[in-house]
Formats: sequence, C-alpha cells, structure tokens
Amino acid sequence: MKTRAAVAVGPETDLEIREVHLDEPRPDELGITIVATGVCHTDAIIRDQWYPVPLPVVLGHEGAGIVNSVGSAVEGFSEGDKVVIGPAFCGECEQCIAGHPMYCANFYDRNFGVQRRDGSKAFSDDQGAIGSHFFGQSSFAEFTNVPAHGVVKVSDDAPLDILGPLGCGIMTGAGAVLNVLKPKPGSAVAVFGTGAVGMSGMLAAKASGATTLIMVDIVEERLQFAKELGATHTINSKETDPVEAIKQIAAGGVNYALDTTGVPAVFSQMTKSLATMGHGALVGAAKLGTEAPVDIGTMLLNGIHISLVIEGDAVPKELIPRLISLHAEGAFPFDKLINTYSFEDINQAFADSAHGSTLKPVLTF
Ligand SMILES: [Zn+2]
Ligand SMILES: [Zn+2]
Repeated sequence: MKTRAAVAVGPETDLEIREVHLDEPRPDELGITIVATGVCHTDAIIRDQWYPVPLPVVLGHEGAGIVNSVGSAVEGFSEGDKVVIGPAFCGECEQCIAGHPMYCANFYDRNFGVQRRDGSKAFSDDQGAIGSHFFGQSSFAEFTNVPAHGVVKVSDDAPLDILGPLGCGIMTGAGAVLNVLKPKPGSAVAVFGTGAVGMSGMLAAKASGATTLIMVDIVEERLQFAKELGATHTINSKETDPVEAIKQIAAGGVNYALDTTGVPAVFSQMTKSLATMGHGALVGAAKLGTEAPVDIGTMLLNGIHISLVIEGDAVPKELIPRLISLHAEGAFPFDKLINTYSFEDINQAFADSAHGSTLKPVLTF
C-alpha cells in the first residue's frame, strides 16, 4: 500500500515527507494506522547519527493507532483494536524471561537495526529500500507494520491522540520512578532536568505519595511550569548550587533523585544530593564513552544506590495500562506536557523540542 512517511536522510537535515510503498505485514506483525505519534530526543539523535543507524530511515517510536490488519501468527489482536506501541524485544533471552525486556540481549538489533530479522525493510520508493522497524515501529508514517509482541492493546475509549509518548518518553521518566526508585509516601525526591522525562518522573513521584518534589533546571519558565504541575521547590542551577540548595530543603539530602540529562556534571551533582541510603537513577541518554566523576568513598560510607535505567525498566504491557489508569483518575496529568502538531509540521516539532519551547510534541495524522 501507499503511505506518507517522514524520511530521515542525513544529520541536522530536515526529514522529507514522501509518499512511499509499505509492504504487507509479516505473520508476526500487525498493520497499524497511526493516529498520533510523539517526537522523542532519541529520534533527533538518531537523525543526527549519534549511533550508526543506516539512512535513509523512517524514525518515530511513540506511536498510537488502530490495528488495520493482523498477521496470521498473531494472537490476541483484532482489526479495529486501539493500541500503543512500545519498544521491540525478543521475549526469549535471559533478561526478557526475567521480566526486563528493555534490557533484551537483542534490544539494539530489534530497535536500531531498522530492518526485519530477515533483512527486509517495510518501506521503499523509486530510490530503493527505506529503513523501517525503528524501535520496532517507525511511526512517522500514516501506516506501518509492527511486530505484535511490542504492541499494547488499550481500551476502546482510550484517548489515542495523547497516548503515544507512553511508549517511550513518559514511560522512561515514570517507569524509573515507579519500577526502580519506588519512592515511599512522604519522601523527598529531586529531579534534574524539566523536560518531558523529568516532568513525568516528578508526576510519578507525586502519584506515589512523595511530598517534597524538587525540580532542578536552568530554564526559568520550565521551573515555573514544574511548580504548576506540583513541584514543591525549584532550583535554577545556573544561579544556585543545587547540591547545597537540596540539602537545605530536605535536611541532609533527598531520598531519591533522577538525572534526566546524561550530563556528567549533573550526574555528579545527583550523587551528592542524596541522603544516607538514598537512591538515584540516571535515565538521560549519554554518548557512548561518556564518563562522570563521582566520589566513591563518600558514596560508599553513605550507602548511596545508583541505578542506570533504560526505558523505565518497564514491561510496557504492564506499565502503560497503569499510567493510563492513573491519568484517568487525574493522578498523572501527563497530557499537560503535550503540544500537538500536524504531521506536515514534523520538522517544526523537532525544532521546538530541541529549543525547549515544547516539552513533548505529538504529531497527528
Ligand atoms: Zn530479549
Ligand atoms: Zn524515545
């Protein structure tokens, strides 16, 4: 079938919206009509080739849509089902079996290989094959073919226009808090970075009953917005030493902290902002080879725990419905992070996200 798709052709270069050919879904795949898809930092860094993903490719990995065809080997889905698409994983390796599919031994191949395991690519045009299956989905297209195991069915009344980011950015922040940090009610949490991941982490900490919610950033408007979303304290780290400020707000430091930046200096600050037996998590992507200085002597004496968490260590089929339920109850208002763009304005969405004027762009078709 024909579909419009946004094709990444080179670093720092606008995506090209083209009419391309989409092949038939394989027996283990669902054909999905994309209703809306988030734009994530990872789409931008892959377009810019931080990791060596072959071009041209259709990116996009926060898709939500409607099943339009069901592969012959797929069970549990029907045409017309509403779905959110999560990352791909093999389901068979040690980490998948242990309930940690975001650490799948085959994660890189399945999500960044941008082809099927048989080497085929779902998209093509008269210039040749175009990479598909980015994060198992390549959702910057009106129609796409997706391995069924990464797809999460949601209820018929679920608001598809906002749900796509639950498959990556929102899941990354909220999952790190709900699955890894697990803040106790009444505890103190600091979040470094007020992007969509950081705000989601803060909202999840609030939903968990944490009562001191400290947001750290260098952009004053973002810090103001964090307050509107429920932050109890904000720190502009351009003006104030965040470690000192956190230790004053939460006597001796916070119980939990999240670094969404992946910036070495910020990671070091996070380790110093924790109270005795505190637990910090890094979720921000850093280039391979990035090192950060930390004081392992002090951290040892204080029993500091540090986790490095990919995609919220989520099982998407478990976490995404929980986040939808929390949202429906008003306890996780992640929709406030979203600005909607039409698909044609995808490059504007990338620019606004990079510039920080939009926390979470969502493209609608
Ligand atoms: Zn696996
Ligand atoms: Zn992402």
